[in-house]
Amino acid sequence: MFSRTLKTMAVAVTLALAAPFAVAGNGPGTPITTPYVAPTAAEAVDLTYMREEEKLARDVYLTLGETWTVAPFENIAGSEQRHMDAVLKLLVKYLLPDPAAGNAIGEFTDPTLQALYVALVQKGQGSVVEALLVGGLIEETDLTDLAAAMSRTTKADILKAYTDLSCGSRNHLRAFAGQYSLVTDAPYAAQSLPQSVVDAILAQPMERCGNGRVR
Ligand code: MN
Ligand code: MN
Repeated sequence: MFSRTLKTMAVAVTLALAAPFAVAGNGPGTPITTPYVAPTAAEAVDLTYMREEEKLARDVYLTLGETWTVAPFENIAGSEQRHMDAVLKLLVKYLLPDPAAGNAIGEFTDPTLQALYVALVQKGQGSVVEALLVGGLIEETDLTDLAAAMSRTTKADILKAYTDLSCGSRNHLRAFAGQYSLVTDAPYAAQSLPQSVVDAILAQPMERCGNGRVR
């Protein structure tokens, strides 16, 4: 278990928040832009952590993809790179330092994520089934942590990024769980989320996330 919090998964995002963010010059059909408002301490902590949590996913999948030539790992690592990029854009916008700057694959500033990288790679190198379970665990945990981070911000751009990342994580969970079932001929069992939440995700098809690419 590596989520910092297991707080409520329900995130009330009121659309009414969107209106005040519309700035002069935005006509109909123009994307709403969010003007700079200094981040709260919680937003800063969450963005910083999420940048490296996405890196954890990317780096674990890159490394396990070298051990196991199972389809999901390489593709999903590319998706995690885009997730890292999305969080970096927000770190830059909000004038926050990048915790991943200068860190190679497998190197983390957060000591918890550093230890997790080592443990998850070791576990995933045990067998292809273990590797797929590592993927599922990472995605379940990302969903929990993203929901918690969403409950701690009202900024439209941060919510949008976390929404897109969550969409990606649901697709990744579907990919890992589907591969797990193919390999083991058994249903995927939830590892950190409630089984009912995982089952609801797996019952839905792959989604289009963010800019419309399936990722
Ligand atoms: Mn991700
Ligand atoms: Mn993912």
